[in-house]
Amino acid sequence: MVKILIGVLALQGAFREHQKMFEYCGIKTVQVRMPEQLNNIDALVIPGGESTTMSKLLVEYDLLNPIIELGQKGLPIMGTCAGLVLLAREIVNSNQQPVLQLMDIKVKRNAFGRQRESFETDLDITELGELPLRAVFIRAPYVVSAGENVKVLSSFKNKIICVEQQNLIGVAFHPELTKDIRLHRYFINKIPV
Ligand code: GLN
Repeated sequence: MVKILIGVLALQGAFREHQKMFEYCGIKTVQVRMPEQLNNIDALVIPGGESTTMSKLLVEYDLLNPIIELGQKGLPIMGTCAGLVLLAREIVNSNQQPVLQLMDIKVKRNAFGRQRESFETDLDITELGELPLRAVFIRAPYVVSAGENVKVLSSFKNKIICVEQQNLIGVAFHPELTKDIRLHRYFINKIPV
């Protein structure tokens, strides 16, 4: 089998948990903190955390533009929770700038309201098979609107919470906080062999 290496952006947030998921899949990962570390990766994950902090650090560590370029060239990138916010073309309730703006979506941050700021639920995602996917939402965003080139993989209470646009996947919840590796596998399958 061809050796695959997945970069996990490790500036802040839940990057170790993503690494663990790929380990379960038998895939090697590297923590990305410097532009050089983007050179040999086959895919990149942008974890959950705090999108405002992460966007500042992306600029400070000279990672913003290299990641935008790689995403535009077709590198598979998956953003979860804060990572979804960073991938969005527009954030409707924040003047936070800059972000990667790679996906043709508008997102709302911390969008599920106070008493629902954190919750768990089961989601149906056809692409992952029959069994529902347990999903942990922590001060999660949702997608307010998506362009026609964006495929909606899942919605919850009529809110779009999982999207795909060619090489890119955006997820409002935390797929790395359960033992279910199907979404990570789905992402790995985006890597051309
Ligand atoms: N509310 C956070 C943000 O907008 C995201 C929360 C998370 O990643 N768990 O940055």
